Amino acid sequence: MATAIEIFKHLPKKNCGKCNFPTCLAFAMQLANQKVKLSDCPFVSEEAKAKLEASSAPPIRLVTIGDGPKKVELGDETELYRHEKKFFHPTRYAIVISDSASDEEVEGKLQRARDLVFDRVGQTLALDMLAVRNDSGDASTFAAMASRVANEGLPMVLMSDRPEALRQAAAGLTRPLLYAATAENVEEMAAVAKELKCPLALRSEDLNTLADMAERARKAGVEDLMLDLAPQRAKDLVEKNTIVRKNAVKKTFRGLGYPIVLNACGDERAVLKAMLSTMKYGGIVLLDDLDPAHALPLFVLRQNIYTDPQVPIQVKAGLYPVNDPREDSPILFTTNFSLTYYTVLADIEKSKVPAWLLVVDTEGLSVLTAFSAGKLSAESVVTALEETSAKERSKKGTLIIPGMLSRMSGKLQELSGLKVVVGPRESSGIPKLLKSGQI
Ligand code: SF4
Repeated sequence: MATAIEIFKHLPKKNCGKCNFPTCLAFAMQLANQKVKLSDCPFVSEEAKAKLEASSAPPIRLVTIGDGPKKVELGDETELYRHEKKFFHPTRYAIVISDSASDEEVEGKLQRARDLVFDRVGQTLALDMLAVRNDSGDASTFAAMASRVANEGLPMVLMSDRPEALRQAAAGLTRPLLYAATAENVEEMAAVAKELKCPLALRSEDLNTLADMAERARKAGVEDLMLDLAPQRAKDLVEKNTIVRKNAVKKTFRGLGYPIVLNACGDERAVLKAMLSTMKYGGIVLLDDLDPAHALPLFVLRQNIYTDPQVPIQVKAGLYPVNDPREDSPILFTTNFSLTYYTVLADIEKSKVPAWLLVVDTEGLSVLTAFSAGKLSAESVVTALEETSAKERSKKGTLIIPGMLSRMSGKLQELSGLKVVVGPRESSGIPKLLKSGQI
């Protein structure tokens, strides 16, 4: 987004107030903060509109593949470093299926793709996309395989260097990514992408060639582009991805402001490259296959990078039954930081001892952080006990608190009227405590 001063230069400077702001500068400041729309000023010239819209376009173009709830969105990023704000659209992984593969091989890959689903800290981590590669050289075989794989309901990538094969295969699908045009066929590929309203990937090892291809594709009427920088080594991947992102975000060169696709098929270091791509601005990673042992750490890495660093992942505060508790079951408490909650929950479940888990709202902070920040106190625990009617559901009269909060025990016992038991410092000690018979 342009700064207020840059925007101000293009405004009519009538200071008429029709935009509900007394001066054009005040309006420019609101516009720079994206709190108003340019159309709120009725006097902006067409030329100024074009200039302002161009300068306020995202540095990395937003590209959408597929449709409906499973569609993937890539790009529209504004930051070089995650801690400066956040990264918005996570890296997506696609398993590639050859149109020459046997029925058994195809079904095997599809089943593995379906099985790649994990639950972590309350979120579902799963495979995002499927791709079909035209190894047969035959357009009808390619289209038939694309249609079969599309039945899985995931957004698709169609891989061929033949525009006609892509046209046939993409015709029955919803906005697949066409992969990939080269310097030799960019206009023909762009014609297919334009006709079918599909995003188009461009592939070249050379960034200058890629910039030239992007210009040619835009001239041919295709704006939704992705870039395959064809890195040979892991080092090249990090360097090239960083150059593209940095130039776009810093506005040094906007001609390559598109999401990046990495084809890691046939690469013995595919998983390493997928991880680097996840850490360094990758949009899509194409993989021959993905086994669960590699998928889980990859998905977790992505989950960590693409969470908002300013907003901890939280669960809803409340009283949760674990292992079918009764009135004589004890209460344990923890905070609503997702990672803490799910760790404690898993440890209580492991004990198989019925219990009530009281989750106190600490704005998503973990136990010690919340206590140090004054967001977790004996008073806030008592409030949570009252709001959840915890003492009516558990009549045992025992509250187990995290071991790190032992200094809170006296006051909490006094305020709550419950017998406070200081639990283990680490959640992993909960099963032993619950099974000890001392509670
Ligand atoms: Fe300025 Fe336009 Fe607002 Fe009038 S309506 S004050 S010209 S920005």
